[in-house]
Amino acid sequence: MKDELIAIFGAVSEEVSPHCGDRTENTPHRPSFVVAATRAEQVGELLRLASARRVPVTPKVAGENVGGLAIPAEGGIVLDLRALRSLDIDAAHAVAWIEPGVTWEQLEAAAARHGLALGFPLAPPDTSVLAGALMDGLGTRSLVHGSYADWITGVEAYLADGTKVVTGSAALSGRPISRGPLPDLTGLFVGFFGTTGIVTRLGFCLWRECRFRRRDVIPCRTVEEAAALLISGAPTGLFDDLGGLGWPAGKWALGVDRPGPRDPGEPEVFVVADYGADDERELGRRRKVLTALSPAEPVPVDDLLHLCPELAPFAKLPTRLSFLLDHPGGGLSWVGTYGPLDRLAEGARTGSRILEQRGFPPLVVARPMKGGHYAVLRLIERFDRRDPEETERVREANVALARALIDLGYVPYKCPAALHGEVLPRLDPGFRTLLSRVKRALDPHGILNPDRWPDDATADTQSSCPGRDPAATLLPGS
Ligand SMILES: Cc1cc2nc3c(=O)[nH]c(=O)nc-3n(C[C@H](O)[C@H](O)[C@H](O)COP(=O)(O)OP(=O)(O)OC[C@H]3O[C@@H](n4cnc5c(N)ncnc54)[C@H](O)[C@@H]3O)c2cc1C
Repeated sequence: MKDELIAIFGAVSEEVSPHCGDRTENTPHRPSFVVAATRAEQVGELLRLASARRVPVTPKVAGENVGGLAIPAEGGIVLDLRALRSLDIDAAHAVAWIEPGVTWEQLEAAAARHGLALGFPLAPPDTSVLAGALMDGLGTRSLVHGSYADWITGVEAYLADGTKVVTGSAALSGRPISRGPLPDLTGLFVGFFGTTGIVTRLGFCLWRECRFRRRDVIPCRTVEEAAALLISGAPTGLFDDLGGLGWPAGKWALGVDRPGPRDPGEPEVFVVADYGADDERELGRRRKVLTALSPAEPVPVDDLLHLCPELAPFAKLPTRLSFLLDHPGGGLSWVGTYGPLDRLAEGARTGSRILEQRGFPPLVVARPMKGGHYAVLRLIERFDRRDPEETERVREANVALARALIDLGYVPYKCPAALHGEVLPRLDPGFRTLLSRVKRALDPHGILNPDRWPDDATADTQSSCPGRDPAATLLPGS
């Protein structure tokens, strides 16, 4: 296999240690080889070879998904896509056509040259836009434009047998400007974590930048107060983002290693409002509405920075939140969900309690999405990966969080394998059957990033068998 890989890539790396695990609690696995693509065609050639040899392949860019989703299969191949970094911007249609290695900071700089912008996740600037979009991530324009999956206008991908496929308008016109009106095969690659094919190009919407922009911070005494602001602000259509961030984030940014308990006088959540306009009067009008809806006077981020320069990571995106990434022990994990806006306060309160009971400061991140059709709710643990007891507590907390949030109608995104036991038994049986059929049709030998969605060979027969719970067969060990 090694010689064949060298024939495709020119070299293989057996220095696999950096690719075994990630910063989460998920169990590391040791791949046999790491190969780095420099041309998209190599992806097809690799998949043809891997299918013939039945060797698993895990595509990876930065590996910062915080869900163990780029941890390879034991003995498999890691396909490093960081060097595929080309991008084209169709400025007239505000669409970028990007390769997997294109990063948030790279795309921001390229878009700005055309007066365009994209809005950011709180992700490190050197992570992949393409992988983030395929995982249905979100950022500072998701209140207006929805999650990143909604911004995808089509893909170029390689299937497990090496077949190249283009979806969206580009399938006919070569221009990736719209996802429809052909059958939406783009969705076959969204939310699948590389288990249906490896995407080598992604059409991605950009947005016109306004002349004036503001970021204000509103301290909210309680989660309930913050939720009320998000719920009332979302449908006004005046704000690009209303993002709530729990109190531990500020404490960590100020260098407090183990914050808590919270002082009762301290705000529980800070809401960051991001908005813009083409003239200053309109910007002023938006600020007035924000002030009227807010429980306290909005403070411009720049003023806050004068008082407290340590908060700079929150001021300008993309940003590297070093207090989450570069602390001793380096562990980071979360349960992120999309769900009902009207249960945001309850979800945040319940999730905070679960974290506090297990000794973690309750870091909540929440925002309304797509004009308020739904909300994102994420509960985050910062932990010491060197400590097995603390790592185990993270595992247990995440299962408890997923269970409680699913009860409230929230759906985990970037679903790690450790949460399959909570998600799969409650999925619609027909959905599960279809998921299995799609996976098996596109990857009959199961070589593509195995176990990201389990291979449920029994779902087809079980779901049509009355009186039995087909979900039971999906649980690990059953
Ligand atoms: C502190 C922190 C904050 C973050 N905040 C946010 C946030 O606010 N919003 C948000 O959306 N994200 C957030 N993220 C996640 C991060 O943005 C995403 O992980 C990133 O954009 C994806 O890039 P990556 O290089 O890390 O992908 P990887 O982790 O390398 O890959 C992600 C998944 O995609 C698969 N994959 C990779 N390439 C391909 C391909 N070409 N085709 C098919 N499948 C592929 C991988 O196998 C894996 O399953 C945050 C991460 C951190 C560490």
